[in-house]
Amino acid sequence: VAQLTTSIPGLVADLRARVSGRVTGPTDDAFDAERALMYGGLDPRPAAIVRVVDAADVATVVRFARERGLPLSVRSGGHAATGSSVVDDGVVIDVRDLTSVDLDLDDGTAWAGSGVTAVEFSKAVAAHGFAVGFGDTGTVGLGGITLGGGVGYLVRKSGLTIDSLLAVELVTADGGIVAVDGDHHPELFWAVRGGGGNFGVVTRFRFRLTPVPEFTGGMLILPATTETVAGFLAAADAAPEDLSTIANVMPCPPMPMVPEAWHNRLVIFAFMAWAGPSEAGARALEPFRDLAEPVADLVQPIPYPDIYPPEDPDYHPLAVSRTGFIDDLGPELAARVMDGLEVKDEFFRAVQLRVLGGASSRVPNDATAYGHRDRRILVNVAAFYESEAERAPREAWVEQLMASLTGGDPAGYVNFLVDEGEARIRAAYPGGTYERLAAIKARYDPTNLFRGCQNIPPAG
Ligand SMILES: Cc1cc2nc3c(=O)[nH]c(=O)nc-3n(C[C@H](O)[C@H](O)[C@H](O)COP(=O)(O)OP(=O)(O)OC[C@H]3O[C@@H](n4cnc5c(N)ncnc54)[C@H](O)[C@@H]3O)c2cc1C
Repeated sequence: VAQLTTSIPGLVADLRARVSGRVTGPTDDAFDAERALMYGGLDPRPAAIVRVVDAADVATVVRFARERGLPLSVRSGGHAATGSSVVDDGVVIDVRDLTSVDLDLDDGTAWAGSGVTAVEFSKAVAAHGFAVGFGDTGTVGLGGITLGGGVGYLVRKSGLTIDSLLAVELVTADGGIVAVDGDHHPELFWAVRGGGGNFGVVTRFRFRLTPVPEFTGGMLILPATTETVAGFLAAADAAPEDLSTIANVMPCPPMPMVPEAWHNRLVIFAFMAWAGPSEAGARALEPFRDLAEPVADLVQPIPYPDIYPPEDPDYHPLAVSRTGFIDDLGPELAARVMDGLEVKDEFFRAVQLRVLGGASSRVPNDATAYGHRDRRILVNVAAFYESEAERAPREAWVEQLMASLTGGDPAGYVNFLVDEGEARIRAAYPGGTYERLAAIKARYDPTNLFRGCQNIPPAG
C-alpha cells in the first residue's frame, strides 16, 4: 500500500519517453536502492527518480516538473542530513551519472560532473599532483558540498571549495542551460557559491586546481583533557597554512590500533592534513605530537586521496547534530567541551572543532554567499542513537552543549544545518547575504521550484 501512495499513473512512462537517462518508479525493483540516502531514519518515497545523462535531460525534467506542478529535488552524493535531495511524491533529478572529469593541465583547471564524489575527483587530479579541497568524507557529492561552501582538508591552504570554483553549467527554473561565471550571470555566480541548491541544477563545475605534489596526513589520537584540547586549538591556529585540522573530541572507538585501555575514554580524534613538503610537515606536526603521548599516530606521507579511507556502503547512522561558529579559542572553550562530553549514560557523541583562518579568511565576507569568513572555529556537536525513544534526549543534550559553546549565537554553516526552521537559515547568511540571495532567487526562480534544500524563498 505504501508503494502505491507514491505512484502517479503514467508519470514514469511519460518521463521515460522524454529523457535519455534511466527512470525508476515505485514499482520498479531498483526503487529502494535508488532512493536510499546516507543517513539512517530517512524513508523518502518519490514518484520518479531520473538518472539524468546530460544538461538536456535536466532541462527536460525541470520543465516537466514545473508544468505539472510536481515537487522537485536534486540528488548528488545523497549526504544531506535532512534528506532534502530525495523528495516525497515528486521527481528526483539524480546527477550521479554525471561523472566526467576533464582536466586542462596547462591551465591548472578541471571540469567535473556534479555527480562526481570528493574521492573520485581527488583520485582523478592527484595523478597529476593536484587537489581541490572538499570535505572530510570521500563519498560526499560535489553537487551538495560545493554549492554550500565546502570546508575540508585544504581550507587554510586554498580556502573553501567555492574559492576554487571558476564556473558552473546550470539549468535554471525555466529550463534554460546557462554558463555562469564571473563575467556571465555574475550575481548568479555569487549566489551559487554558498547559496546551496536554491538557484538551479548544476550539471558541471569548473575548478582551479591546487598543486599538492606532496601530502602528509592521517589520524592522530591524543588523550583529551582541557589542556590538550586548548593546546590543540592553539597549535592549529598558529600552524602554517599548509596545515588544516579536524579535531573530534569523543569517546575513543575500539579500533585495533588503539590500546584497549583507551577504548571509550575521551580522546581528541583528529585528522591532520599537511599539503606541503614532508620534512616541513613533520616540523608543523611537532606541537601536536608534543601535547601528550599519542594514543595512536597514523599521520604519514600519503597520496592526497588516501585521506579518504574506504567507506562501508551499509553504514546509515541515526544521529542528531547542530552546527555553529566560535571565535574564542581559549581554555574556557576547552573546559566547556570537556564538561559537556561528561555524561552519565554512555552514548556515542562528539564535538568537532575545525580551526579555520588561512586562505578561507582572506576572502571578504561579501565576495561569495558564504558570509562567515571572519569566524575562527566551525563547531559541530553530534549524538548517535539506536532507537527512536533515544532521539529526543540526545537532541536535548546536543542543543544544550551547543548553546554552552556558542553562547546562543545562531550563526551556522548551511551544509551542516538540519531541519531547524527559517531563523536558522537566515542566520546561515549574515550581513545582508540572505536578502541578496532572496533578490537573486526572485529573478532566477520566482516560483520557488528549487525549494528542496535549505530554502531561501524569492524576495517579495
Ligand atoms: C558524513 C558527512 C561528512 C560531511 N563532511 C563535510 C565536510 O567535511 N565539509 C563540508 O563542507 N560538508 C560536509 N558535509 C556536509 C555536506 O557537504 C552536505 O551534506 C552536502 O549537501 C552533501 O552533498 P551531497 O551531494 O552528498 O548531498 P545530496 O543529499 O545529494 O544533496 C544535498 C542538496 O544539495 C543540493 N544539490 C546537490 N546536487 C546538486 C546539483 N547538482 N545542483 C543543484 N543542487 C544540488 C540539493 O539542494 C540537495 O538537496 C558532510 C556530510 C556528511 C553526511
